[in-house]
Amino acid sequence: MCGIVGVIGAADAAPRIIEGLKRLEYRGYDSAGLATLVNGGFDLRRAAGKLSGLEELVNHRPVSGALGIGHTRWATHGVPNESNAHPHATERVAVVHNGIIENFRILRDELAAEGHEFATDTDTEVVPQLIHFFLKTGLTPAEATARALKRLEGAFALGIIFAGEHDVLIGARRGAPLAVGHGEGEMFLASDAMALAPFTRRVSYLEEGDWVVLKHNGATVCDAEDRVVEREIKLTEHDGEAVGKENYRHFMHKEIHEQPAVIGDTLNAYVNPTSGAISLPDLPFALEDVSRVSITACGTSYYAGLVARYWIESLAGVPVEIDVSSEFRYRMPPIAEGGVALFISQSGETADTLAALHFAKEKGQHIVAVVNVPESTMAREADIVLPTRAGPEIGVASTKAFTTQLVTLACFSLALARAKGALSAAREAELSHALAEVPARAADVLAHDERIRGLAEALTNA
Ligand code: GLU
Repeated sequence: MCGIVGVIGAADAAPRIIEGLKRLEYRGYDSAGLATLVNGGFDLRRAAGKLSGLEELVNHRPVSGALGIGHTRWATHGVPNESNAHPHATERVAVVHNGIIENFRILRDELAAEGHEFATDTDTEVVPQLIHFFLKTGLTPAEATARALKRLEGAFALGIIFAGEHDVLIGARRGAPLAVGHGEGEMFLASDAMALAPFTRRVSYLEEGDWVVLKHNGATVCDAEDRVVEREIKLTEHDGEAVGKENYRHFMHKEIHEQPAVIGDTLNAYVNPTSGAISLPDLPFALEDVSRVSITACGTSYYAGLVARYWIESLAGVPVEIDVSSEFRYRMPPIAEGGVALFISQSGETADTLAALHFAKEKGQHIVAVVNVPESTMAREADIVLPTRAGPEIGVASTKAFTTQLVTLACFSLALARAKGALSAAREAELSHALAEVPARAADVLAHDERIRGLAEALTNA
């Protein structure tokens, strides 16, 4: 799933959309596009390939308009070329979409039978066509969107604008995150709050099934049953600074070198520096009563979970079950109520892990989330969050997010072991002092690594 940015502002939207999309570039994508509203009609720019291609196109053929939507696409239906790039538009509706519309074939057939013509190979195109269909029956943009949403199946986030409607930008969230940015007389929409940082720090997060109508001066959020609901506005930790590589060769190189600092930051959250005692945030259950722990995660986070299993079992003597998130629900595990289910995710948005979390919640488990993004969906839905303090991780292969997960899980294991009476205070202090040494040791290893790299480069150039 890729990036969505929407702007209903006071200045030209296109440069701001591109600026927002740049902050989502790390997700990987194959094409990009934007649409603005100019004199009531859509002005579209789309390009296959990198965002710089779209930027060049916009420099070459500038686009005005203070209301607009933009997208970076990771093709699931239809090859990554210009005509399949989002936004997709009819004369009256333009849409950007992350995710998949599962029932697009049925909808496409129905709409084709009504005379609608399709120009792309995407699943997405049914969305503007369907909304257009409802607009033709005399519904307002909000009413037509609400009707269309009820027909869509799948996991997705949407950004929608309407011809002739300079004060309406609609967003919808189902299974894919969407955040609303609250500016001064301007409003923003993005699939990741990081994209909103250049414009505002005041952000609210849509919940599952929500959809939102943005106007210049505010937002009205409705839930899946179309009831108006309030979603709290929070101040994000993201700052407006561009996420840069500094002097490093690439993001992953920079992130590897950030490890001593972020491991230290993460430890500070859990370890008392003088006594060495570990403290977790207030828990809604007693640690000493925990008789088993289930861990669920994907990819690198799953590997962190595998390591944690050793620690929890050997230090605390508590049995651990671990699953890859995508399998957890399907094996229908019998789960006794009141257990502890621990979910690990860098972004806090991993769709399979989130689905597993919902399943565990239904089964009456205490939900613990180890996540790196404090405003993420998992952080909001968990009973308790054990944050990792790695900062934004841009590199796709996880480095600092993984090591800070390990640190957090080590602290959890020690706290559990202590509560279970499996660890003396002296042994806890000994192990937590060893943990406190990790940042310095990591810095030593990295300095050594850089010396070897320097030597290798000098030899190659000699
Ligand atoms: N399924 C849509 C497409 O293939 C959206 C993919 C995405 O999330 O970028 O166009």
